[in-house]
Amino acid sequence: MSNALFKVPVAVNEPVRAYAPGSVEHTNLINKYKEMYNQEPIDVPMHIGGKEVRTNNKRPMSPPHEHGKVLGHFNYGDASHVNAAIDAAMAAREEWANLPWEQRAAVFLKAADLLAGPFRDKINAATMLAQSKNVFQAEIDAACELIDFFKFNVQYITQIYKEQPDSLPGMWNRLEYRPLEGFVFAITPFNFTSICANLCAAPAMMGNVVVWKPAASQIYSAQVLMELFKAAGVPDGVINLVSVPGPIAGDVVFKHKDFAGLHFTGSTGVFRDLWKEIGQNISNYKTYPRIVGETGGKDFIMVHKSADADAVATAMTRGAFEFQGQKCSAASRAYIPMNLWEEVKTIVVSQVNSFKMGSPEDTSNFINAVIDERSFDNIASYIDFIKEQPDAEIVVGGGYDKSKGYFIEPTVVQTTNPKFKTMCEEIFGPVLTVYVYDENDFEATLDLVDSTSDYALTGSIISNDRYAINLAMKKLENAAGNFYINDKPTGAVVGQQPFGGARGSVTNDKAGAPMNLLRWVSARTIKETFIPATDYRYPFLG
Ligand code: NAD
Repeated sequence: MSNALFKVPVAVNEPVRAYAPGSVEHTNLINKYKEMYNQEPIDVPMHIGGKEVRTNNKRPMSPPHEHGKVLGHFNYGDASHVNAAIDAAMAAREEWANLPWEQRAAVFLKAADLLAGPFRDKINAATMLAQSKNVFQAEIDAACELIDFFKFNVQYITQIYKEQPDSLPGMWNRLEYRPLEGFVFAITPFNFTSICANLCAAPAMMGNVVVWKPAASQIYSAQVLMELFKAAGVPDGVINLVSVPGPIAGDVVFKHKDFAGLHFTGSTGVFRDLWKEIGQNISNYKTYPRIVGETGGKDFIMVHKSADADAVATAMTRGAFEFQGQKCSAASRAYIPMNLWEEVKTIVVSQVNSFKMGSPEDTSNFINAVIDERSFDNIASYIDFIKEQPDAEIVVGGGYDKSKGYFIEPTVVQTTNPKFKTMCEEIFGPVLTVYVYDENDFEATLDLVDSTSDYALTGSIISNDRYAINLAMKKLENAAGNFYINDKPTGAVVGQQPFGGARGSVTNDKAGAPMNLLRWVSARTIKETFIPATDYRYPFLG
């Protein structure tokens, strides 16, 4: 057998394409969007053990910006499909787990190159159609972030495997990393195509097999991800997609003895319920399951009196409203000092009024639709609530319309109550609430930022005063897992700002970092003694 210690290609971040109108890349992507929009409705199967599985229970898939248009249907399954997916995963496990790591790495490096090339327009167009992302938001998510996840994670695999103990003379200590003894359950959200793929790919890269339950509203782009995995050479049964209601899938998975790990991204309430369910079943499992969850946020922008109003306003509008505020990291509360507020307000209102809203097919639209009717109604109910409150007023926005698509105007609210409902609760839509504080109360306001929410995902301090920055960093140490200085709190890049928060938000295993991959392996320590002892008597016995 030939052996070598292989060096993997050095990972570099995928350059983000500009898609300037008239460019070849712009034309090609919009043509792909139109082709997918106009094609015959598709029938998206479940993928179990490499087989396409269909049922009689078909659910329509429509773009959020045009709910009357049917792109196709997906096949809704039941508990039997979840059981079949677990069986398929467990049947694939031994061969996949025993494949040399470089073969697994090669599969995902190939996936990265396929995505950067032949799959790029398709995954971006699918994400624009399914999740209503504009060209830029689709590109930084479905193409670039996912390419980065694949490439950087491959690099991190080698870092993990290289982590070895020291050895004294006469022995050799080694650590080896094996996949978990069972299967990993990936439950994914609607909002990031890259996260959906990574929640499956990260455990799979480390030799695990996966049952994947995507959100119903993301299945259109999930199908393209399954095509990508297949084209890259992920073997049958290694990643199995089931489209079933979450509680039905959970009921089967969390009672299964081979359940070995949950890789979850979604809302905090769901994650807490799943953790409880796992706890209740803990004595049924062969091993203690790994639980990795990235959940909600109430992400803040804290502004010092020394900041530039332009920088503050742009951090607010980009941070709060890109992808309609449906990023877990989106700014949704801002603390603005009184000395800057009038100027900041003027710029924010003028920026928001200049946004165009509509279909992502028209790339001059900065704002598109929110994901579905449930989300639309929820956000609209918050806006209605705000309109009735004496301690809050809408500064700009506040309109909504679901006649054609789920459109909500980017909305800025000013409140005089720092604990106002929308300062505390995650809305997951384009609503930013501002609390204006006395600029001389900076330190007390930092305490307010820290204590207002159970979440601790992202946040930023905007200041030109280094002492103020230092104080904010200290006081807000536990308030955000991703902390930004003089920037918006969104837009983490793999390999540069590993992502994950704290408190109620997440387990903070940092997606796109070695910390996350470590959760999907179990280490075996090996001590080999070259010349074994032959007499039990130690010298102290005389
Ligand atoms: P969600 O919690 O509604 O759904 C997430 C997934 O859980 C979906 O696949 C859903 O079908 C499934 N699910 C729901 N109930 C279930 C149950 N009882 N059993 C098993 N599965 C169940 O979240 P969403 O609306 O898709 O996504 C938005 C949420 O995700 C927001 O709270 C956002 O902050 C969070 N998010 C966090 C991060 C992060 O990195 N921290 C990233 C993206 C999204």
